[in-house]
Amino acid sequence: MTYDQKKVDQMNQLLSGLKLNTVCAEDNCPNLGECFGSGTASFIILGPNSIRACRFYDIPHDHPRPVDLMEPYRVAEATNDCKSRGCYRC
Ligand code: SF4
Repeated sequence: MTYDQKKVDQMNQLLSGLKLNTVCAEDNCPNLGECFGSGTASFIILGPNSIRACRFYDIPHDHPRPVDLMEPYRVAEATNDCKSRGCYRC
């Protein structure tokens, strides 16, 4: 699969515009370029942190954030946006 910076930028803009968090970014996943470039992302809901100090992930460990009742709608919006652009999954 070829790396497509334009699609990676589009995914980054979509996610930051909707204030959504992903395992991909928070975990500094080495596959981010390939996945974002193909329209794939793994959301983290209820904040950017993990409440577990798991040593297998690089996701920051912290207390949970207050529940954002609008977050599910933003996740749905991001998913619809991805689907409309022909992404595989989000
Ligand atoms: S979707 Fe891709 S970039 Fe995101 S966490 Fe999974 S492998 Fe990594």
